[in-house]
Amino acid sequence: MRLRLSPEVEAVIRAHAREEYPHECCGALLGTEDGDTRVITQVIRLANERTDQRERRFYVSPQQVLMAERQARAAGLLLLGFYHSHPDHPAVPSEYDREHALPYYSYPIVSVVQGEPTDLRSWRLKEDRSGFEEERVCH
Ligand SMILES: [Zn+2]
Repeated sequence: MRLRLSPEVEAVIRAHAREEYPHECCGALLGTEDGDTRVITQVIRLANERTDQRERRFYVSPQQVLMAERQARAAGLLLLGFYHSHPDHPAVPSEYDREHALPYYSYPIVSVVQGEPTDLRSWRLKEDRSGFEEERVCH
């Protein structure tokens, strides 16, 4: 399983992560599937709807997911995942992330160290929700 992010798409995600620092940013990934590769062609910035602990957590309401789903359909694309940032934390899913993730979607995480986006790694939740498996990010 691979996640293909064009340099433009990756730049948008990193810029969003930098802007929201020290809070977590989040957004939706739209694109197409080509065999085991997901090709992300469009990004929608979403609001982090958490009112507390926004340095450590993010929340996307069902209304925002529905909006992203509709926007994808209108563009002839699929909603394939959600990105978020980890301010001053590695690009590895937290226990909170595991509890709130759904199988199928891709979850790229970008680590932001002292305001600067660094590692970007992507994850998919296992079907039994016991943990994440990393997927390869390519350009
Ligand atoms: Zn997280």
